[in-house]
Amino acid sequence: MYNILIGCYGHETNTSTPDITELFRFGGEENIIDPDGTRLYNRGFYDVLKKRDDVRIIPSVAAWACPYGKVDAKADEYISSKLLEAIKNAGKLDGILLSLHGAMVTTASEDGEGDLLEKVRNAIGNDIPIGVMVDLHANITEKMIKNASWIINYDTYPHIDAFERAAECAEIMLDTLDGRINPVMAHVKLPLLPEFIPTTKGAGLQLANAMFEIEKMPSVISASISYGFFCADIYESGAAVIVIADNDRALAEKNAAMLAEKMWDLRHELKRNFTSIDEALDCIEAEPDLYPVILADCCDNPGGGATGDATHILHRLTARNVKHAVVAFIYDPETVAAAEKTGIGNVGEFCIGSKIFPEITGAPLKTKAYVKAISDGHFDTGREAAVIMGDGNLNTSKNWPPVSSQHGKVAALDLDGVIVLVASTQAQTWNDYAIRSCGIMPENQTVIAVKSTVHFRHCFEKYAAKIYEIWSPGLSEQLVSKANLTRTRRPIYPLDEM
Ligand SMILES: [Zn+2]
Repeated sequence: MYNILIGCYGHETNTSTPDITELFRFGGEENIIDPDGTRLYNRGFYDVLKKRDDVRIIPSVAAWACPYGKVDAKADEYISSKLLEAIKNAGKLDGILLSLHGAMVTTASEDGEGDLLEKVRNAIGNDIPIGVMVDLHANITEKMIKNASWIINYDTYPHIDAFERAAECAEIMLDTLDGRINPVMAHVKLPLLPEFIPTTKGAGLQLANAMFEIEKMPSVISASISYGFFCADIYESGAAVIVIADNDRALAEKNAAMLAEKMWDLRHELKRNFTSIDEALDCIEAEPDLYPVILADCCDNPGGGATGDATHILHRLTARNVKHAVVAFIYDPETVAAAEKTGIGNVGEFCIGSKIFPEITGAPLKTKAYVKAISDGHFDTGREAAVIMGDGNLNTSKNWPPVSSQHGKVAALDLDGVIVLVASTQAQTWNDYAIRSCGIMPENQTVIAVKSTVHFRHCFEKYAAKIYEIWSPGLSEQLVSKANLTRTRRPIYPLDEM
């Protein structure tokens, strides 16, 4: 019988967001325990392990918070202690599987996952394997490498393969315990801060293909590319590649070096180009037959640690009197409450958005507006979506990205042709369901502004006539050159010409 403990604990920390990520953002004390091992990404481990009747699954924690500012050290201490307590109470252990983000910074430490893995390693000694899955945007640190037996990350951005990668991580554990393989890991850390490049096209796709070619080689178990998360301004921030081979260190090292070289050669293409709001609106006016056009408000993406209440795009849409425009979404629970009080079908005075850091996200928009709809944010997709929603930040089903809304109660306010959807929960625009839930057909709008960097593409790309990626001031900075990084080691590209 194999005794395998599984746990999930993740946060992508944006160190430029001044607020602290407290325990309640992880769901609070009562929600961080996973009673049966099926919550969040534990599910990917669980489904593989469950198939074997010689495995005892030992659940522990399932704690995940939407990206935001540094994690409160007390919250980290609490969640870590629950994981360590589960390890201590497990009795004899044969392996540990952890799903982490890999870019967590706490108020006490800039290497959240490195510290966590060190504590876990110290608790169990060197003989028990620790298999780790991290996000594609992990900042891989020396401490993580030293204390994990193997690390694999998501291969895709949009991150549509987290459950498959968790399953892969669990398969590696079973193959190891059965004695079929002996995983050895090589990694190369690059002096490189990539911007948020999707893996579906261009340099991102080329790199993904190179990685898959390596994975096809005999004796290679897994290859991973971590793009890093430069908004977590830490010494070891940035890109890394990892190759895991079966009992063959030279093979792992050779291929890790090859993949790193490929990434380095493509470094000039791991940058993004942005459009200003008015440039995009000029193009939309010039091409009225192209609709809907998506404006991705990349720098105000709650999925990257931003507030999600920036009003820059909203101001320009109303000032330019654009018709059939939808802003999805502005996080502002006060305005949702005010809309409820005003009532559907009535006109009221509102002060919309930019309540948290208005010096960055623009002034709130003070305006009269017609309350068109108030919705629970959910759109009934019937038999399409058998989805169990989790803690409001991440779905707990195997379906990913989330196929349901995560915006909480939503108010649709009509500002004479510009409809702003005001949300009561901070979440990025994963999909269009909450738009539809307000009686709006997204396909027929002139413009839809979304709060997301890349993940929105999974839903909106199907019918978008055009997509503009917008740069405007916000807390999820997209350009390394504007990020004001002080902790990141130097020299590093593109901050330094290399
Ligand atoms: Zn990511």
